[in-house]
Amino acid sequence: MKIVTTVCEARKYRAEVPSTCTVGLVPTMGYLHQGHLSLIQRAREECDFVVLSIFVNPTQFGENEDFERYPRDFERDAQLAEDAEGDLIFHPSVEEMYPRPLLTTVQINKITERLCGASRPGHFTGVATVVSKLFHIVTPDRAYFGLKDAQQVAVIEQMVQDLHFPVTIVPCEIVREEDGLAMSSRNVYLNAEERQQATILYQALQAVTRKGFRSADEINRFVREKINTQPLARIDYVETLAYPSLEPIEQISGERVIVAVAVRFGNTRLIDNIILQDRRIS
Ligand code: AMP
Repeated sequence: MKIVTTVCEARKYRAEVPSTCTVGLVPTMGYLHQGHLSLIQRAREECDFVVLSIFVNPTQFGENEDFERYPRDFERDAQLAEDAEGDLIFHPSVEEMYPRPLLTTVQINKITERLCGASRPGHFTGVATVVSKLFHIVTPDRAYFGLKDAQQVAVIEQMVQDLHFPVTIVPCEIVREEDGLAMSSRNVYLNAEERQQATILYQALQAVTRKGFRSADEINRFVREKINTQPLARIDYVETLAYPSLEPIEQISGERVIVAVAVRFGNTRLIDNIILQDRRIS
């Protein structure tokens, strides 16, 4: 496995891949866990050459967010990527990715107005801009994204269609801890009590699938009540929307629906979701 830190080297190794081979890209911010590794494994199964990018992208963090303290451990990541049989790690510095003040950004409207787009202004412009840079640098045939960040998947798919990027987006299932908590690099921020109470997110979402709810309001109220049983939980949002359009819905009627939550435990903001595809939620 090769490790490169410059755009020039990344392009060089990419150019050496024969044109008959398929290139897969897995964009990450590092501090790898099984969720990331599942993306690499899927890429490994489907592609001849697997590129992993590790870059904590400052432009997708708000001013008071955790860019500085975001967990980083490149040595460990490199070992895990090697074990997962990645072919190339692209691990640029901030200066390499943003050598001069950025006057060009990629902004996706409408589907970024709700959920994390509403709570984190500018976040998806940062994400879309860095992902389009990565697509231009690596020119992958396929790119792998986790449904843990389901709004991100919708945003990137929209961008790829709107701007004619020649890449197939592959959405991958959420990987969870044994007790249901969605794996996240940010889980290390949680203290023992917060970690234990954080299991309520998945429990609440799972419980939705066992009830015969007919309206988005009913679902939202139910999930809020469940989450609020945990004293350390502070809800940022609970929303039930059409997926991937993220349009508001009233009744549940055969469309694909996402129930998405963002909840703070102390200074840690966790997100989770379930996508319901059945005609009825039952
Ligand atoms: P991040 O490093 O948090 O930016 O995540 C990089 C990629 O891994 C994104 O496409 C995430 O959606 C995906 N990812 C993160 N956590 C999980 C998880 N628990 N299950 C599946 N994919 C995940």
